[in-house]
Amino acid sequence: MNVSEAQSILGVSSTASSGEIKTAFKKKAAKLHPDVNKAENAEDEFKKLNEAFQLLTNPPAPPMGVYSDPIFTQEFFTGFQTVFGKSSNNIKARISISLEEAVKGTKKDISFTRSARCSKCKQGLVVENKQTKTCSHCRGSGTAKETYSAKVTIPPRFIGGALCLNKQGDYIHIFNIHTDAFVFVTIEKDPSGELIVENGAVLSILKLTLLEALKGCNKKVKTILGQRTLKIPGPVHNGDKVVSQGLGLAKNKSHTFLINIVYPDNLDGIINFLEGSEEQDGYIDNESKE
Ligand SMILES: [Zn+2]
Repeated sequence: MNVSEAQSILGVSSTASSGEIKTAFKKKAAKLHPDVNKAENAEDEFKKLNEAFQLLTNPPAPPMGVYSDPIFTQEFFTGFQTVFGKSSNNIKARISISLEEAVKGTKKDISFTRSARCSKCKQGLVVENKQTKTCSHCRGSGTAKETYSAKVTIPPRFIGGALCLNKQGDYIHIFNIHTDAFVFVTIEKDPSGELIVENGAVLSILKLTLLEALKGCNKKVKTILGQRTLKIPGPVHNGDKVVSQGLGLAKNKSHTFLINIVYPDNLDGIINFLEGSEEQDGYIDNESKE
């Protein structure tokens, strides 16, 4: 990229002052920020814009005592690119809640470190003895680290994942915006091990006697909402699934009961009965064919 290409990317003339270049950069960069621009090429466009900006604003080091714009600092660009490139950096806290808390909803204390507006300066600059200087507190970055604490509300029947704290993330000085912060919530396993919860759907094994499986039955079952009576239509097979809509962790998720038939200890009576009925049906086994 040469200087005139850089000028055309930023949309500035060859006589533009550093202030005009900075304003043009801010304007264009704000449009390419991932919070507002979801286009696939936005990141590439931003990289070009960044390159153009660096090219036009990296003159030889200024003589001592002359104001140096904090925007040029490497620290700023490193910080910004991290925020830009990886949205996972917006996950500021990770918490885990019990299955019961996920069902009923809960409140949790969280705290994390974030970039905030520096309280000692205005955009990295201070005026001392009528002279504009780089803020020594934030070294011109316009931001300072602070600890943010809050109580977050987990709604009832929450299936886990990221909770968005609107505009509670890092302050980005150049855009004068606060990013969103995310709290990642993991749901702990059912302590009894009976209910397996995956993405809000619930699975459990339902043991039935042979008679219950053949005739059907009303069976008391454990669900995340407590005990319920489940109607099993007869006959069901081993491995069949009976699905109860609305009994998942979220209201639109289901609870699947996997049928596991427990055979009686003594099967002699049933075997004799079945053999008898097969003979009656005129069924001939292999041996008697000869
Ligand atoms: Zn400052």
